[in-house]
This record gives sequence, structure tokens and C-alpha cells, in this order.
Amino acid sequence: MSVPIEQARLALEMHFGYQDFRPGQLGVVKALLGGKDTLAVMPTGAGKSICYQVPGVVISGVALVISPLVSLMGDQVRSLREADVQAAFLNSTLSASEQARVMERALSGEVDLLYVAPERLDDQRFLEFASRACIPLIAVDEAHCVSQWGQDFRPSYLRIGQFIKQLPKRPAVAAFTATATERVRADIVRLLGLQNPYQIVTGFDRPNLHFSVERLEPSKKLARIMVHAKAHPDDSGVVYCNTRKNVEKVHEALVQAGVRAVRYHAGLSNQERTQNQRAWINDDASVVVATNAFGMGIDKPNVRYVIHYNMPGSIEAYYQEAGRAGRDGLPSECMLYWSDGDLSTCRFFLEQDSGNESMTEEEASMARAARRRMLAAMEGYCLTCDCLRGYMLRYFGDQAVKAPAASENALGATSVVGSTAGSSVSASESTGSSGSPVFTCHNCLNCEGGFTPVDVTAEARAVMRCVKELRGRFGKGVVVDVLRGTNVEKLEQLGLTHAQCFNTVSMSQAQLKEVVELLAAGEYLEITEGQYPLVGYGPRFREAAMPEFRMNMKQVVRQPARQSGGNR
Ligand code: ADP
Repeated sequence: MSVPIEQARLALEMHFGYQDFRPGQLGVVKALLGGKDTLAVMPTGAGKSICYQVPGVVISGVALVISPLVSLMGDQVRSLREADVQAAFLNSTLSASEQARVMERALSGEVDLLYVAPERLDDQRFLEFASRACIPLIAVDEAHCVSQWGQDFRPSYLRIGQFIKQLPKRPAVAAFTATATERVRADIVRLLGLQNPYQIVTGFDRPNLHFSVERLEPSKKLARIMVHAKAHPDDSGVVYCNTRKNVEKVHEALVQAGVRAVRYHAGLSNQERTQNQRAWINDDASVVVATNAFGMGIDKPNVRYVIHYNMPGSIEAYYQEAGRAGRDGLPSECMLYWSDGDLSTCRFFLEQDSGNESMTEEEASMARAARRRMLAAMEGYCLTCDCLRGYMLRYFGDQAVKAPAASENALGATSVVGSTAGSSVSASESTGSSGSPVFTCHNCLNCEGGFTPVDVTAEARAVMRCVKELRGRFGKGVVVDVLRGTNVEKLEQLGLTHAQCFNTVSMSQAQLKEVVELLAAGEYLEITEGQYPLVGYGPRFREAAMPEFRMNMKQVVRQPARQSGGNR
């Protein structure tokens, strides 16, 4: 008794005012109308909500939407009601009698879409309700939360699979996420118990977003942000920081400079957070300075720029946060400023994280290993000489971009090996020195030649030789000192002045350190955690010995003056 797609198109137009589904949406909607389980991997802004809202409206019964975003449920339901959709939510902001009323209405067929948080699946009254209600569809939003390989693991998501199993009639289950690594996808299918699901990975490219990455000292980062915000006083923007303290610092500086900025982080009262968020959404404030607590579920179309004051811990997090820019399709800027300190902070957070109560020590250590690889891919993005967009699209497994085989790492991310980006931007695909196609988007700082790629292949090989000779027993500083023949007194104490690679490289200390980092980001080397991180071989160390191995390093030559397009 599958519902015809025409009926869904009608509902799409009637309630949401859209002429047609986007290509990725159409496949998902058809699958769900036919009662098929689905796993849809789509980036933020691709239109995941429509994929379950429309089927929820046209299929009879109450569709459950399981979402971790309790604070936003009220807003989501309100806007659905404005679109004449019978939507409701159940969460702890409602009194017991209000909750009972919502369930009654759902049982008598007055609710098409019911939003709940995963914790609700533990509530006895809710379970009783679910056993009596007609539930043809369950949509699991942010489905990656079920996986320990993702960065937002929530143990409460593990209950969803069991909940579905105990329902009297199995509904179609649709899982949505913006996180696409193979392992997370496999976990979603397994842990939610999806049955032979229709799977789709789509729409990661956001051509209207311009990407740039620069390594800057914190004081310069702040100056850049001030210049940008002041030069675009009418543009709506977000500045993401890694700590509350940085939010306070950047926010204060912007306010003092006369920018209409508000702040947002978990340390503020609910009231201030809501007030600030509203001010920004209504364009009463132009910039919101926030931690990553901000933005989930917010759909503001006219965000002209997203600046990262710090390097996030993964490409997933970065692309999701940066992707809040330009949802209206107009040209928008995504700028990432990073410094060495950011990397240390990310590593610190990562190593401090002992998982959560439901994890065994082994699971927690696996989760940390996964996050270490995610961070390495993020660092690779910051250091790559390749097209920035191409780098991320490959990471997400988007079919639109072919990976240069020689430079693909375990994560599907490319390293800088064989890169010719920055020197050839005339075609969408130029040929890299490895003979593989290199994607160029013409709309990122790297493709625009914002730096000169410097060939550091010889130095990289020297670093690899040195790490071999020192047998992974020393940190980055010692490796660099040995190669440069500096800090001799200390090296004498360590007995390293007689090393074969002693004093064999002439390059500045900072640059040689960056070569070590590049090798680590490309997984040729591995920098261990702990108080004294050691440099050892990484999983791809053999490739660095191959004749086709090439490594380029960025040297920033100019800061392009760009205008972000469109108005408010
Ligand atoms: P996601 O949940 O994937 O982040 P949303 O569901 O919030 O994305 O949708 C992002 C934007 O795209 C919203 O402004 C939404 O109204 C719009 N949108 C979704 N589907 C369509 C469509 N078929 N046609 C036009 N706009 C759409």
C-alpha cells in the first residue's frame, strides 16, 4: 500500500511551497513511501528534513522523528505548524499532563510528525503509547550519534534499535547523517538494525562557498576577524571558537570595535543563549561568536561568512559548521584560521576524553584512535596544497570527485603528495605529477594560488630517514634539531651528534617542523600522544620511500582581497 509519489509532490508544494524534490531527496522519499529502510548521507543544508517530513505527512499514522536536539524541537515544530503540518514534540519542557495530551492526540490521529529525544525511548508511558500507536515511519536524525567512530557518540542512541524491535509492527526506518565515513555508515546500519536499506550519499558539494585556510598567530587571527566583520557590517556571520574563553575574547574585541556581535556558549544562561540566538536570526546582531554548541538545527539562509578562529577536531565538524554559510545559494566565505596551539588543544581534548560510562576501556581507546585519524585528516586539510573543496569532497566519498590514487590515504582524504594545485588551475582536472587527475574548483584559496607550493620532497625523505635512525624514540623537536645540527649541547647529552643524519638539512626550524607535521597528516609518520609525544612511522611510511613520492609545502604569498557576495 505504497503512497504514490505525486501525492508527496503535492504535499511538498502545499506545505513547503517547493516545486519539486531535489534529486537526492526524491530517491529517499520514494524509498520511504514504499516502506523501505533508508540511510541518507547528506550534508547540512542539503534538505534532509523534507525527506522524512513529507512522507510523514502523506503516510497515515504518526511518524516518529528521533532527534538529539531537544532545545530546537519547539522551533522545528512551530515552523511545521505554520506550514500547516500536524506536528508535535515530547520532551521534558512539557508538563506530565501536556505530554499525556500530546500522546492522546497522536493516538487519535491528530499528529503526523512527533519529535522525541532518544532518552524518551526509556519512558514507560511513552513505550506504552508506542505499542498502541500506528507508527509507519521512524526517522533518526543525526544518526551518526549511534557510532563510537563518529565524534558525537550518544549512548542513548543505542536504545533505538531495541525500541524498534519491540514495536508490534516494524515501521520503515530512515537514518540521516552528514557523517559519511565507511565505518560510521556500517555502524548505523548494524546498530539501528536497518534492513537492506536504500543508501545514498549525495550533495556534499556547495559550489557557492569559497574556502580558505591560513596559519596565523592568535593575535593576527583576531585582527583578521575584526577587519572582515567591520568591512561587512550588514552581512550575517558566525565566528566559531574552540573554548568559551576564546568566545569571550573574540566577542569582546568585536563589540569594542563597534561590531553588532553576540555570544553563544554552554556557560551562558538559557535565557541569554535564546536571546542571542534570536537576535542573530532576526539580523539584529550581525555576528554570533560561538562554540560548537551553536548552530545545530538552525536554518538561516543568509549567512555570508563562517570564520573558524580555531581548527576543529575533524573534517566532519568543519564542513558542518562552515556549511551554515550560504544556504541561500549566494556566494559566501568559509575561512579557517589556525595555529599550532589549536592542534595541541585538539590533541589535549582528544586524549583527555575517556569515552563515557557505557564504554569499556578498549572501546574508549578505539574511539580515541578514530578521533586521532579524524584530526590527522583535519590537519591534512590545513596543510594541503591541493584544492580545498576537492580534499573535503573526497573525504566524504562524494562521487563527483575522483581521488588521485597515489595520494589517497586510509580515510579517503588526499595528502599533499603529487599535488600540482596552485600551479595549474585552468581545467577542472589537471594532471598531477603522479599522473593522476587533480581536482581544481577555482573557488578556494589553494586553487586561486594564494600561496606558492614549495617542493620539500628531499627534506621529507631526510625526516623519514632520521625517524628511522632514531627508531621513534624522540619528539619532533629533537628530530628537527638533529637534522639541522642545532641545540648541540642537548644532542650531545642524548648521544645524537654522531647520528648519520646529523646536520644534513638546511631549512628553518619552523619549516622543518611543518614538514614533520605534513608527514604525520599524510600518515607517513605518527606522532604519539602523551606528555612527550614521540615521532614514529605511520601506516604509509613505505610510500615515502617510493620514487614517485613528492611533497609540497604551502608558502603563503598573499592575502586575496575578497568581497563576499550578496546582501542580507
Ligand atoms: P538539513 O536538514 O539537511 O541540514 P534542511 O532540511 O534544513 O537541511 O534544508 C535546508 C534548506 O533547503 C532549507 O531552507 C529548506 O527549506 C530547503 N529545501 C529543502 N528541500 C528543498 C526543495 N526540494 N526545494 C527547495 N528548497 C528546499
